[in-house]
Parts: sequence; structure tokens; C-alpha cells
Amino acid sequence: MSFSVTILGSSSAKPTAARHPSAQAVNVHEQHYLVDAGEGVQQQMIRTGINPLKLRAVFISHLHGDHVYGLFPLLSTLGLYGRRTPLPIYAPAPFGDILACHMRYFDSELPYEAEWHEVRTTEHALLLENRTLEVWSIPLRHRVPTAGFLFREKRPPLNVDKFKIVKYGLSIAQIAAAKRGEDVTLDTGEVLPNAELTYLPYRPRTYAYLSDTAYSAKAAGLAAGADLLYHEATYAAAERKTARQRGHSTSEDAAKAALQAGAGRLAIGHYSSRYKDEQLLVDEARALFPETYPAVEGSTFTIEKQR
Ligand SMILES: [Zn+2]
Ligand SMILES: [Zn+2]
Repeated sequence: MSFSVTILGSSSAKPTAARHPSAQAVNVHEQHYLVDAGEGVQQQMIRTGINPLKLRAVFISHLHGDHVYGLFPLLSTLGLYGRRTPLPIYAPAPFGDILACHMRYFDSELPYEAEWHEVRTTEHALLLENRTLEVWSIPLRHRVPTAGFLFREKRPPLNVDKFKIVKYGLSIAQIAAAKRGEDVTLDTGEVLPNAELTYLPYRPRTYAYLSDTAYSAKAAGLAAGADLLYHEATYAAAERKTARQRGHSTSEDAAKAALQAGAGRLAIGHYSSRYKDEQLLVDEARALFPETYPAVEGSTFTIEKQR
């Protein structure tokens, strides 16, 4: 029942000797999702031991090269590996045109389907849902249409308190009803409220990815309660003006978003190549939001289960 985020790229537009452009792998119950796919994402997956054949879906925040240039070679490689199952790719328009062009010239005989699903970047909409997970879009404020992503684990099945089973002599049918969230009527006619019999084994966990974006109170609000928030911090606080002009955030903006969201932890990344060492950005964010951590490439943020 894992829930973790592995950082594959932490640089903004220009890669550096030590950093790749944006990419992350999200693992929810051993189902893997790629969030953004900057240049070098394939090698980064190999280095971090993530099997690309296990990818369930890809989410692209926006059509700037540093978030998408790594995707096309990955699509080709998956064909070489013999992938057969369709790969859903969630991305803003006009991604479909770019994908079609790539397919026409490089991957006309791909053995699986790369399916584009449009992300409407002005909507907070449910993009993907399965037994364990929901993924929602979060509108962001950038120079081109951009959406962040909210990964929300589904509520786990209720556990029935063993002591209550014995105390009331519950039958298999009554236990099953309690697990479904129903109240239970005993043979005596007494009704036991569900809350008395059951408990949640753990709270559903959430991860919010907000990049690229200028500070957005609305986006932070939609990420409310996230156990882990990734927020871009392209610039240090002194570069506030440049950040505004380019539709990016400073370290302080990222911390403000984490405070407003009431996040458990904040990971910052998408650093400008001018910062050889990201410590200044981390220190500035920590002054406002102490639970700030740098998105170091190759590192994994694990969200533990909590009652
Ligand atoms: Zn970017
Ligand atoms: Zn961008």
C-alpha cells in the first residue's frame, strides 16, 4: 500500500550538469504514474529502478519543452520493449497534434496505443479514477495553459473492530454490512451505528503537484490538506519581479502556498540554472514553512499511512 513520489528531474528550462528538467514518478499501491517528462526521463527511470513498462498513465502539466521533450523517445522505447496495453497521456491541447506528428514520422508501427486525453487547464476536473486512486487537475497561472495534478488515494475499506464482533456476536453477513458502512441491527432489534463498529485503517493520502506556476491562492486552496505538496520555486525571494514576469514562483511563494494549503510537507524544485546550490531557496522557504525539503533527483518522498 505504498504512496511515494520519486524525483527524476528538478531543473527549470536549462538542464545543468547536476539536474534534469521536470519529471517525477508517482507510485500509488505499486501502480506507477509519470508526471511531466523532461529530457533525460528515460535514463532517470533506469537510474532510479522504475520499470517504464509498469507506467499506467502519463500526466503533462503544460507544453513547455522542459516538461515534455523526454516523452517521445520514451514512447518509442516502450514500443521496443513490446508494450501492448494502451498508454493514456493526459495533457493540454494541442498535444494531440504534436503526438500525431511524432507518430507519423517516428512511431507509425507502435505496438500499443498512445491515447491522448485532453486536460482543460481552467477546470478542477477528475481526470482518472480507478479502485485505489483519483487524479484531479488544478488550474495554474503560467505563461501558457497549465494544470497541476492532485493524486488522491481512495478511502480504504473500513475495518470492523474485533472486540465488537465478539461482544455483539456479529454474523458474517453483519460484519460484511458493517464493512460496507451500514448500521447493523441485532436480533434483539437494537441498532448499532456503523461508527461504533468500524474504523478507517488509515487516512487516504494526497499528493499535489503545482508546476509551473506563479503563486495562486486558488491552486493552493485546491491542494488543501495535501500530505505532500510539490511546488515550483524557480527563483530566490530577491528575484520576485523576474518570477512574476515569467509566470514562475519564488521560494517564498512556494512556502506561502504550502502554508495556505495546510500541507504536511513541501518539496521545492524547478530551480533556475543560476542556483548551483539550492540551499538558499530551501532556507528561504523553511523560514516560512519549516517542513520544506529540496526535490533532490533520485530521492523518494514516501507518504506513510496515518490513522
Ligand atoms: Zn518549466
Ligand atoms: Zn513552463
